[in-house]
Amino acid sequence: MKIGVLALQGAFIEHINMLQSLGVEAVEVRLPADLEGLDGLIIPGGESTTIGKLATRFGLIEPLRHFAAEKPVWGTCAGMIFMAKEIGNGSAGRDQPLLGVMDVAVERNAFGRQVDSFEAELAVPVIQNGETRPFPAVFIRAPRLVAANGDAEVIARLPDGTAVAARQGHWLVTSFHPELTNDSRFHQYFLQLVENRKQGTGYRELAG
Ligand code: GLN
Repeated sequence: MKIGVLALQGAFIEHINMLQSLGVEAVEVRLPADLEGLDGLIIPGGESTTIGKLATRFGLIEPLRHFAAEKPVWGTCAGMIFMAKEIGNGSAGRDQPLLGVMDVAVERNAFGRQVDSFEAELAVPVIQNGETRPFPAVFIRAPRLVAANGDAEVIARLPDGTAVAARQGHWLVTSFHPELTNDSRFHQYFLQLVENRKQGTGYRELAG
């Protein structure tokens, strides 16, 4: 299994380290040719406007859309914004290029200036395999999901109900940064989506 991490800007090294610690081959993606032979792709956190502009400059937008149509892609934080079809609540900049593959609407910087970053223990049934141990989620100037449409499904919420992770078929988005923790369960969950895609099995039978 070979996983790419979009390495234009942001927290890509941490994803690569986490993947390698799980024994998975992980490569940095900067150009369309780097997508060849990958089984899945992670789009890291960082600054979504910058990621979108650099992706446009390097001719990556269409190749990434083609890749995402076939293969699993996971966006964390800025990566989640980049994957969304819509930025809601008036925070959309017309000059912010989006991949726009996933049927979700997001709000950028949804937790306000006072709360730049915080940690929360999340109940995420799909990664807990029946255990109760919560996931330690790190939020940094994080977006939130304001809508999950079509067959996109919210898989994690803050205690106040705010939606912070979703899956739609082979696509995954999280508002937070699992690569900044020592907890690899979200990475393992993504690798399971990749494995299922490779084997041609569906997703419905995944727990949760
Ligand atoms: N606030 C950033 C954005 O809007 C996302 C922050 C992050 O990825 N940690 O793109």
